[in-house]
Amino acid sequence: MSGNNSKPHQNDFIREIVKDDLSSGKHTSSVTRFPPEPNGYLHLGHAKSICLNFGIANENIESGSRCHLRFDDTNPSKEENEYVESIKEDVKWLGFDWGEHLYFASDNFDQLYQWACYLIENGNAYVDDLNAEEIREYRGTLTSPGKNSPFRSRSIEENIDLFERMKKGDFNDGEKVLRAKINMSDPNMNLRDPVIYRIMKTHHHRTEDKWVIYPSYDFAHGQCDSIEGITHSICTLEFEQHRPLYEWFINNLPVPCKPRQIEFSKLQPTYTLLSKRKLIEMVNDNYVDGWDDPRMATISGLRRRGYPPEAIKTFCKSIGVTKFSGITDIALLEHTVREHLNECALRKMAVLDPIKLTITNWPEKDHSESMHAVNNPEDINLGKREIPFNGVVYIESDDFMEDPPKKYYRLSPGSEVRLRYSYCIRCHEVIKDDEGNIIEVLCTYDPDTLGKNPEGRKVRAAIHWVPHNESINAEVRLYDRTFTVEDPSTEKDWKDCFNKNALSILTDCKLEPSLISAKVGENFQFERKGYFCLDSKDSTKDKIIFNRTIALRDTWAKINKS
Ligand code: ATP
Ligand code: MG
Repeated sequence: MSGNNSKPHQNDFIREIVKDDLSSGKHTSSVTRFPPEPNGYLHLGHAKSICLNFGIANENIESGSRCHLRFDDTNPSKEENEYVESIKEDVKWLGFDWGEHLYFASDNFDQLYQWACYLIENGNAYVDDLNAEEIREYRGTLTSPGKNSPFRSRSIEENIDLFERMKKGDFNDGEKVLRAKINMSDPNMNLRDPVIYRIMKTHHHRTEDKWVIYPSYDFAHGQCDSIEGITHSICTLEFEQHRPLYEWFINNLPVPCKPRQIEFSKLQPTYTLLSKRKLIEMVNDNYVDGWDDPRMATISGLRRRGYPPEAIKTFCKSIGVTKFSGITDIALLEHTVREHLNECALRKMAVLDPIKLTITNWPEKDHSESMHAVNNPEDINLGKREIPFNGVVYIESDDFMEDPPKKYYRLSPGSEVRLRYSYCIRCHEVIKDDEGNIIEVLCTYDPDTLGKNPEGRKVRAAIHWVPHNESINAEVRLYDRTFTVEDPSTEKDWKDCFNKNALSILTDCKLEPSLISAKVGENFQFERKGYFCLDSKDSTKDKIIFNRTIALRDTWAKINKS
């Protein structure tokens, strides 16, 4: 599971099709594309599609295979440049490269318009005056055929003229549409004269005000595939019923090539929402602090949370590609993240809920020693670092109990523990404030226990610590799963299952001094506490903020069992 390259390429039914098409000579190289609509940020589901499309290109690189990044920007009312930029950044961050193959559906608006005219000229499209509601009524249902629009029999000349006037702006939004003339009683509803152009007097983020008519997704998508020379047009399962329409356009237009559409099932992880529409609501209704809030399953949220791109890719690999829709346990992603970080994250000590601990038999106030802490036990080449130790430290408040239950092996009055990488200590006194809260623990240390066990005594616990004076103050943000139910996508309102405790903020944390040089993008294991990273947005020199990427163990597994 380590995400290295020693394993053979993964296989699935789509890769099998591509392989067959290459070995049979149907194609000399494969051309795939990732086609996001720039109407939101990318999420984990998109990562699956990115890994699939770019993965196929990379695995067949020696045949000249490639993968395009294409923005499906046919609906100007919801699309923005901010989304375009974030999508590019996220694809790059995942480690994929479209090279010079960056495209926009809107680059093809002229060609698409000409092809719409071509359909009209061949009697395969007509201008309809029915409004949206009437069109819906006329379409029929899954069990009853539709009926022809009274405008379906317009002459080719009239259609040419009306369509041109639609383009010139002679009509208002919704007044007329252009429809493909296929079959109003086809069992497949998508073939019942689908709308291929609509009037929308809206500014477009690229073509600006050049167009007042815009092609439908169905009309634009396959034709853009063909223009780009896509061989395998991979999409998710909900487009299966659109495939006959995809093929109808390709077969009825003078397009340069005939791509093959192949569908696979979407990723839907547990405790996670992926629908862009709902993610937008979470942002707009201030449930989260923007698209990159670490509670969002967006790529930018996962990045800010500290999920490494390699772990996301390993996860996408391990879930495979099939036609079965189902729900994927998010614990699988979390496990992959832990495994990856266990290998590569530097170990640090941090105390999230500090109490002061003073060693009373320390030689003198100014006496300081250096403790040598292992940077990563998984990779001894990473060496050790020095942490100053001068007899006063912070420890985690729950590593001390004044009145402990049996089998509590950490610090309590009279008991002995090791301060990790340092000496064994024994508690002899507890200092409290007026309200009875413990504010300091007094201990003695055994100078003979540095790097070796005390003679004749068994010390059962090693607790972490940071030096009292040299530690760094920090805020630490703990994240938990964002939703409280397994499949929030089936809830009537996601707000009902939004986990209000998914973020808890600890404001008085103490970090070991070496963390002062932590950089955005680096992962750390805070020993015994989990994996953490510097927050990329809110952390400043004066207010250092770390995010918990993930705890060391899966606490939900236990909760679900009980
Ligand atoms: P959403 O339904 O979340 O709003 P979308 O499908 O509308 O997503 P697009 O920008 O159109 O978003 O998607 C770009 C590509 O990513 C498409 O090929 C789409 O099929 C794929 N994709 C979207 N969601 C998932 C998912 N959950 N799993 C796998 N692929 C996905
Ligand atoms: Mg969409």
